[in-house]
Amino acid sequence: MPTQTADYLILGGGLYGAAIAYNLARHGAQNVVMLERKELCAGGTAKSCAIVRTHYSITANLVHAVESLKIFADFDEQVGGDVGWQRTGYLIVGPEAHRQPMEAVFRAQNAHGIDTAVLTPAEAREIHPLLSFHDVGVIGYDSFTGYADPHLTTTAYARRARDLGVTIRTHTPATGLRLGHRTHTVHTPAGDFQAAHVILAAGPWTNALAAAAGLEFPYETSRHKVITLKIARAYEPHWPIVKDLTTPDKIYFRPETGGVVLVGTGDHGDPIADADTLTDHVDMAHVERIDRLITNRMPAFVEAECTAGWTGPYDITPDWNPLLGPVPGVAGLFVAVGFSGHGFKLAPTLSDALAQTILGQTPALSIAAYAADRFARGQLLRGAYGIGSIS
Ligand SMILES: Cc1cc2nc3c(=O)[nH]c(=O)nc-3n(C[C@H](O)[C@H](O)[C@H](O)COP(=O)(O)OP(=O)(O)OC[C@H]3O[C@@H](n4cnc5c(N)ncnc54)[C@H](O)[C@@H]3O)c2cc1C
Repeated sequence: MPTQTADYLILGGGLYGAAIAYNLARHGAQNVVMLERKELCAGGTAKSCAIVRTHYSITANLVHAVESLKIFADFDEQVGGDVGWQRTGYLIVGPEAHRQPMEAVFRAQNAHGIDTAVLTPAEAREIHPLLSFHDVGVIGYDSFTGYADPHLTTTAYARRARDLGVTIRTHTPATGLRLGHRTHTVHTPAGDFQAAHVILAAGPWTNALAAAAGLEFPYETSRHKVITLKIARAYEPHWPIVKDLTTPDKIYFRPETGGVVLVGTGDHGDPIADADTLTDHVDMAHVERIDRLITNRMPAFVEAECTAGWTGPYDITPDWNPLLGPVPGVAGLFVAVGFSGHGFKLAPTLSDALAQTILGQTPALSIAAYAADRFARGQLLRGAYGIGSIS
């Protein structure tokens, strides 16, 4: 088979691959090819709860979250397409010890145009009547947060990328990567591809590809469970997303289609060696544990039924923050990995800034904080709530 060429070759057709492809083309890149081993959105993105909040204590995360949220909320105008955006607002509850960091985040959010407020339990119950705050020290709220549909978002980016001339090859796995001086070669069952710029965006599978070129990025993969719960009354679609920092699992929950509540965790999950071993099985012990935590926060859930459950992979870096940018020491190789369970909300601007970096342009928003060599330099990103996806 003849070798095919590309100027920009993206490996992985999840949210990041699709959004990087779109942004490369938007900024003028020609001959962009994206390879996806299965269908579009076949990895972690498909399992995402797709919450788009701006509550971050690390400035780079906050800035990207705020600017990305603006794109989610106005996606059709700014990118094109429907991502199923639902604005709900966000209630975050924590122990008294979290009051200071939480209030610091609120001030930073306000400075970026996000309204925030510390609420009394009575005020919070006006916007979410099922919640109990008996063990809570501080309650915060913003009205901007929402969620989108992860499939719609990925396919909207991919469709717009195609409109701008990007070639998308599904069912075309990259099976090997050979680094060269001027161009890199990617092996696939459909023949080799040669490109001056290769972007590794294969989610938890990125290291399997990198290994072929003798590289390894610092992230671990873990399995995260999501369940949906139902009670006799409908869980209202306008109730805010809730983050419960009083729980060891840092659970969060949001309305889901069909009058149910969707519950996920922001903790370490179960470490796994290979994301391909994931099944959607959620054990009863997990369901019972989440039931207890949810009933503590919403006593009406004491008789809840679990209506669905699934699992998805987090690619977790040592500081729970993305690894994004040029791969040090390898000209023309770039990486977008390690989104540590909170990459959905950041994708619009992180993908844009990476595309501009690849093209040698100055990104509108810096991604220097996410440089791949920060771990070797000891410059880890530390959030006010410690390690976890809310940093
Ligand atoms: C359960 C769960 C809940 C989450 N909830 C939230 C949330 O509420 N808010 C938030 O901001 N973030 C959330 N996230 C995180 C967010 O969804 C991810 O960070 C983001 O979707 C990662 O996208 P990605 O494109 O990097 O990876 P992926 O979606 O995993 O995409 C990688 C793609 O690469 C493909 N691929 C793999 N190997 C190859 C190969 N050799 N050749 C070609 N293609 C290949 C895969 O098939 C896949 O399609 C959640 C994640 C999970 C798992």
